Amino acid sequence: MPSRLRSMKKLEDLILTYKDFPKKGIDFKDVLEILKYPDIFQELILKMSSTQFLKNAEAIISIDARGFIFGSAIALESSKPMIVARKPGKLPGHTLTKEYDLEYGKNSLSIQRNALKKFNSFVIVDDLLATGGTVNCVSSLLQDQGKEILGLITVIELKKLEGRSKFDFPVQAVISL
Ligand code: AMP
Repeated sequence: MPSRLRSMKKLEDLILTYKDFPKKGIDFKDVLEILKYPDIFQELILKMSSTQFLKNAEAIISIDARGFIFGSAIALESSKPMIVARKPGKLPGHTLTKEYDLEYGKNSLSIQRNALKKFNSFVIVDDLLATGGTVNCVSSLLQDQGKEILGLITVIELKKLEGRSKFDFPVQAVISL
């Protein structure tokens, strides 16, 4: 088996599933185990950073909290600026906030208005795409400000939830489950 395929198989094996977390009926996919294997983490970041539509983006926006892990590593690897979408009450200054539905509840996300000023086109980074509500919230926050979304880069996509059907931009997912 070629080494790249072998390590992608290994990557999949590192995704731990916790049944009924954080509530009954949810199979929670834990990506944090990947961080214990720097060689696999590096290979994953190289793969995510080689996404074609990232090349044309002026900046990355990564999503609280596990999106920060992958977003900041991709920002370093691709030499792109990064801004963040955070849970409310975490960001100082003037913020723009939107509420959305999660696979397991409700949430809202905020962006610092000043952080948007310098950039016109963004790629969104998160750890996992489920129903697409989270990414949709971030993309509509940005689009309301006249910004362009070039795509989403994520480690895992839960295909059966069809999150990507909510977007008018492409999705690069390393693992589809
Ligand atoms: P969604 O808005 O439904 O696409 O949910 C995506 C967001 O919620 C991501 O930020 C994930 O970290 C988290 N999430 C949703 N479902 C799961 C799951 N089954 N396992 C792990 N994280 C999840």
